[in-house]
Amino acid sequence: MRPVLVVSPHLDDAVLSCGQFLAGRPDCVVVTLFARVPDAGVITLYDEKCGFTSSKDAVVTRRQEDEEACAILRAKAVHLDFWDQQYDDGSQTAMSVALALRDVIDEVDPEFVVGPMGLTHPDHIRARDTALHAVINTHTTTPVLPIWLYEELPYRVVYPEQVQNVLAGWGKTYSGDLHASFIGTGPLERKLAALWSYRSQMDLPEFDNIHNFCVSERFWKVTK
Ligand SMILES: [Zn+2]
Repeated sequence: MRPVLVVSPHLDDAVLSCGQFLAGRPDCVVVTLFARVPDAGVITLYDEKCGFTSSKDAVVTRRQEDEEACAILRAKAVHLDFWDQQYDDGSQTAMSVALALRDVIDEVDPEFVVGPMGLTHPDHIRARDTALHAVINTHTTTPVLPIWLYEELPYRVVYPEQVQNVLAGWGKTYSGDLHASFIGTGPLERKLAALWSYRSQMDLPEFDNIHNFCVSERFWKVTK
């Protein structure tokens, strides 16, 4: 069976939102786009809230945590060197991210790609657009590979109206439609075991209600 390639904006989103799918389908590849390690001396408010004194330490730690989570799900973690919005110095282009993702897709040769729906966070919107640009033939606007979008957790639970907003605005930006679709699932216990790998963020309010990550995972197929 060919692998599935799951695109993650940050070093946790794929597992938070698709962990149960990943638990049921070994040998997936999880590509995190915005995983570049900042230089020493940088510290952001978010990283400070996580207990770090350096953003470099924060991202190095998050990379290790993501490797651990993916290993529990028998997935391969790939971390690309593009900036998370909180560290962005404005030097990277959307095209450079899409080309790098395209290289990974060519190397992995997946059966299909799964990317974020683009809820709430600007990095999630960028990751969705990157995934779409990487798989859609710009001349014919036809996906060269099948692609599904996942509803990000916990955003989908906390802000359910945002799913409706994306659906309502879809035709204005993209040709084609989104169709609710099922791509598979696996044991919830394994997803939960993987979630605990993200220790450095578990004390944040976003993780207070673990049930927000235990709801059924939902996917939308991008159709012509
Ligand atoms: Zn994220």
